[in-house]
Amino acid sequence: MTAQGNGGDCLFCGIVAGDVPAQIVDSDDETVAFMDINPATRGHALVIPRRHSRDLMEISDEDLAATSRAARRLAQRMDAVLEPDGFNVLNSCRPAAWQTVFHFHLHVVPRYDDDPLKLPWVPGSGDEAQIKAVAEELRG
Ligand code: AMP
Ligand code: ZN
Repeated sequence: MTAQGNGGDCLFCGIVAGDVPAQIVDSDDETVAFMDINPATRGHALVIPRRHSRDLMEISDEDLAATSRAARRLAQRMDAVLEPDGFNVLNSCRPAAWQTVFHFHLHVVPRYDDDPLKLPWVPGSGDEAQIKAVAEELRG
């Protein structure tokens, strides 16, 4: 096991270790926040736990809580400095959900009234029976 705890080939562990360059904007004992290299909007940043975990299924409760707290702290800082009109905080879990880097991260995306982002689904009226059935399945 390497110090990174991920086999040594994780890009975001490289950022935590200082081996991969990044525009770091905040950090604490558990987390690091840095600018996304392909920003969706002005200010788009990522918040990661220092400890490697692959995704939402794998991350510990403690690291998830710390990363969530750090994401809100960053959003509050962005709110004061960038004065956006809103925010999206987003996590993608597994390739089917668009995950491309397999070290857990939260996207903090400042939103502007005139930005080009679109809701990735078309809201439509749901099938009530199907909603009830899946709710029953989830309640177990
Ligand atoms: P996801 O597709 O949800 O896994 O998000 C991965 C994000 O990491 C994408 O938005 C990429 O633009 C971003 N990204 C990839 N490599 C780097 C890097 N070296 N520094 C900063 N952001 C990166
Ligand atoms: Zn990692």
